[in-house]
Amino acid sequence: MLYSKTLSLNCPHCDTKCQFVVVEQGHQKCINDDKHHIPYICTNCNGLIATKWTVHNNCSPDEFRSSPGGYGQRLDIYYPIVGDWKPRVNLQLITNEKVRTDFKEAISCYNNGFNNACMLMARRSIQQEMIDKKATGKNLYQQIESTGISEKLKALLHKIKNFGNNGAHPDFCLFDEEGNEIIDKHGFAKLSLEFLDRYFANEYEIDSLVESAPRSHKELEEKEDK
Ligand SMILES: [Zn+2]
Repeated sequence: MLYSKTLSLNCPHCDTKCQFVVVEQGHQKCINDDKHHIPYICTNCNGLIATKWTVHNNCSPDEFRSSPGGYGQRLDIYYPIVGDWKPRVNLQLITNEKVRTDFKEAISCYNNGFNNACMLMARRSIQQEMIDKKATGKNLYQQIESTGISEKLKALLHKIKNFGNNGAHPDFCLFDEEGNEIIDKHGFAKLSLEFLDRYFANEYEIDSLVESAPRSHKELEEKEDK
């Protein structure tokens, strides 16, 4: 598809073939993938999408827009900008890189509308975490139980495991107190992230807060003894 200020695309927000209007001020050339990133807005639902364009000949955003075919502009991909979920925990405190990477991928999945994938990645993140903690056991349930973390945190991780199972298995359902099945993938995915965020905050952030807080005379002496 050639560059134009209006594009006709299937809208990932309202699921209709729609006209999109460019947001010219948002046009940037990304130095990471060397593509032009341009936001557009759906004229039917006002949903925002990001588009990525490749060019044959290097050009600035101004040149790109002033000569729609002159630089070999071609639309590569477009996707919805849907989520804005951010963790409260400082990700740098999650010292195990594999755990941190999985958590970040779970967040990206959620923010791009991939709820099942989000739940799978959240589950994967806790399994990485259990491996890091030298957990033992044949399955994730046993691994969580084998760690020295508090009962409350274990309960939280079991819930994330359940959401992961729901994301992975079409026949693994979740219910309310009365036993009615709940079908809310978006809500489940969000809870997965919030529970995981809470776990990491407890497990990593409290240690860091305590470590960086002022010390008493007695605490200084105890530290020297260690
Ligand atoms: Zn739309």
